[in-house]
Amino acid sequence: MIVCKFGGASVSSASSIKNLAKIVSGYQEKMIVVVSAFGKMTNAFEDLFDAWYEGSPNRFKLLGLIKDYHQGILNELFPLENHPVYGHFQFLTDLIKEKLNKAPSGDYDFEYDQLVSFGEVISTKIISSFLETVNISNLWADARDWLVTDDTFREANVDFNQSGPRLNELISSDCARLLVTQGFIGGTIDGYTTTLGREGSDYTAAIAANLTNARLLVVWKDVPGILTADPLYFPDAEKVDELSYQEAIELSFYGAKVIHPKTIKPIQNKNIPLYVKSFIDPQGSGSVIRNIDRPCVLKPILIIKKDQVLLSLIPRDFSFVVEECLSRIFAIFFKYRMKVNLIQHSAISFTLCLDNRGPFIQDIIDEMKSDFRVLYNEGLELITIRHYNSGVIEKHTAGRQVLVEQRSRNTVMYVVR
Ligand code: ASP
Ligand code: MG
Repeated sequence: MIVCKFGGASVSSASSIKNLAKIVSGYQEKMIVVVSAFGKMTNAFEDLFDAWYEGSPNRFKLLGLIKDYHQGILNELFPLENHPVYGHFQFLTDLIKEKLNKAPSGDYDFEYDQLVSFGEVISTKIISSFLETVNISNLWADARDWLVTDDTFREANVDFNQSGPRLNELISSDCARLLVTQGFIGGTIDGYTTTLGREGSDYTAAIAANLTNARLLVVWKDVPGILTADPLYFPDAEKVDELSYQEAIELSFYGAKVIHPKTIKPIQNKNIPLYVKSFIDPQGSGSVIRNIDRPCVLKPILIIKKDQVLLSLIPRDFSFVVEECLSRIFAIFFKYRMKVNLIQHSAISFTLCLDNRGPFIQDIIDEMKSDFRVLYNEGLELITIRHYNSGVIEKHTAGRQVLVEQRSRNTVMYVVR
């Protein structure tokens, strides 16, 4: 068994879907194909969701844009006007429209999952139908039927014990070589749709690989492999040929966009190698994440997080920042699902660097204000360099004002303006 994951960028046009078909037909083994929503459709569904939630009449226009985008791809892939895929598409968009005509319940996270998940349901329907037309027989598997989760909507926890037998039964019950399923979404035991968190399709692919003891997992991307920096900002970024699971976890923890942070554990547990390959150059060697037990010298790897906020908390009564006080601080961050990227503390102050998630920052400050004096800076960048050397540090911090520096043996982090 091989698991292949195709993210939004790799399925954003009719020609890229034809390319997907070419890639999967290059393999002979049984395969699970995990697919995200097309292009930037999850963002479009989030906008639609917000408009619906706010009761904005604009929601129908936004649905129109989503329909047009898919329709354009459908028309190119299926010249036959009476192809059954058009009926499936109509059925799904009618369900969405029906939803938009009703008021959402008060449960934001629940409603988000019920609506935003349509992106993946539609994309997989189209891809599965297209593969049939080019004689790649496959089974469309609804991830909500095999990927069992709890009901933590928007960040669901996967029940591996229940999901395993379901997925393996699907595989053995069908003679098709290929199973096409959705990334990012799952279902509760009561039949409600859940999602695993944004960019969660990598995680779905890793779960599928784990549950089926796959030989390997391939994540197809628009870059040649794992790079030493974001090529958008650093055209001289180099490819890293191989990484250990440990290093990959570290990189995703610091915010490298290589792979969703939850992806590594399920494949590491079964010692399954993960290849990151380019769908533009499928013959390229890509990068591999696997078990490496010899020490290896790694090139410096740069990770930049933009739009950061630095908060410093100083207890008003000048009490020391001790455990009880820290647990109070963290309970507030947890409540707002804030991701803390760096922490530094002294006897009477506690400094955190966070992703700027809009209005929540103000809510957090309001909650902290009675106990702490809060100092606050926004519009910052967090630069992390793994396997640093002085030349690389100099190159990326020159001319910047450093607000916080934190250095360990392998990693140095700078909050800069
Ligand atoms: N489509 C989802 C998202 O954009 C999941 C994924 O792409 O991994 O977040
Ligand atoms: Mg996506």
